[in-house]
Amino acid sequence: MTATRVLVLNSGSSSVKYQLLDMRDSSRLAMGLVERIGEETSRLKHTPLTDGGASRERTEPIADHEAALQAVAEELAKDGLGLDSPELAAIGHRVVHGGQSFTRPTVIDNAVLAEIERLIPVAPLHNPANLTGIRTARALRPDLPQVAVFDTAFHTTMPESAARYAIDVETADAHRIRRYGFHGTSHAYVSRATAELLGRDPSEVNVIVLHLGNGASASAVEGGRCVDTSMGLTPLEGLVMGTRSGDMDPAVIFHLMRVGGMSTDEIDTLLNKKSGLIGLCGDNDMREIRRRIDEGDERAKLAFDIYIHRLKKYIGAYYAVLGRVDAVAFTAGVGENAAPVREAAVAGLEGLGLAVDGDLNAVRGDAPRLISPAGARVAVAVVPTDEELEIAAQTYALVGKNI
Ligand code: AMP
Repeated sequence: MTATRVLVLNSGSSSVKYQLLDMRDSSRLAMGLVERIGEETSRLKHTPLTDGGASRERTEPIADHEAALQAVAEELAKDGLGLDSPELAAIGHRVVHGGQSFTRPTVIDNAVLAEIERLIPVAPLHNPANLTGIRTARALRPDLPQVAVFDTAFHTTMPESAARYAIDVETADAHRIRRYGFHGTSHAYVSRATAELLGRDPSEVNVIVLHLGNGASASAVEGGRCVDTSMGLTPLEGLVMGTRSGDMDPAVIFHLMRVGGMSTDEIDTLLNKKSGLIGLCGDNDMREIRRRIDEGDERAKLAFDIYIHRLKKYIGAYYAVLGRVDAVAFTAGVGENAAPVREAAVAGLEGLGLAVDGDLNAVRGDAPRLISPAGARVAVAVVPTDEELEIAAQTYALVGKNI
């Protein structure tokens, strides 16, 4: 029997998201989420996707990641998809930070684990949780290939001129301060899918990808290679996001410390969790913001305008970085669903060859689609992202040939 299944694990500090895919046809066999690990109120939601099976929920204390993965294995086994199946080819792990060390998906061994651990200082929130997930999965199936797919890898092709901050080089290097970028799996998938939508080879097309979810980032992709992206050392830089400020004068931080008397942790929380759309108007869900705007709410309108202003600046900046743009692709929760955001982001950019057709923009759906008018110089597209499929595909490409 050929092993064609890949389990994709995205381990957070108190959660594990998973999907099981069959790479013969990239179909999804099951998906689920374990939340509030380590609390009394842990919850596992499992959805089998074969034969239209109904979701199942377990609410019971799940002490740690080991117990979480054990519970996931039990639920998968109930559907005949157990982790002991010879059809399971590999486990693919989302790893947030690969620094400069990992430029591509990598089969995990002890040296790889040690390197991901060494990168914890640049990703203190994410890499420890990702490591716990990897260690737990390895303990469960030590014989199975496990692959790390890094959020930063796609951006490692950025030239030094885009990757470096203009600060003292020795200080930057001593602390590994540079622009790494995130959401790389999504930018890779969407830029390639956009080329496919245009019927062209990715190596021929230049694409600006706008990943607009609760976290948001833009990237400039030249012939399939990332040449700039909006997130930096951490995901705080760049676009206005659901709860993050994105770009601002770094001196705001000194001011908050000196004049506002705030601590480093307080400022960290302010900028990462209480800024962006939620800081500006009290809501971070674009649906709610649009509803409030329709009711004449001025604060919601201002938040929307600030969000769009920043987005437009990045479109212009990446247009200049690329020189020639073939397509602008919108993706993730806001990019895929919020037609008013897409319309406003390209409004007035006709001089750059960018426009949106009102009727096409209003169409909803799961498939990649063009929303620019026929014959437009630059294609504007909605391209739903699929990070799990991309992780599974990269994992399978690496291990499938050895099976
Ligand atoms: P993500 O992080 O990609 O899951 O995106 C989540 C965000 O997408 C939410 O916070 C909303 O702002 C946005 N979103 C989801 N569905 C819609 C929708 N139908 N219309 C507008 N925004 C949406």
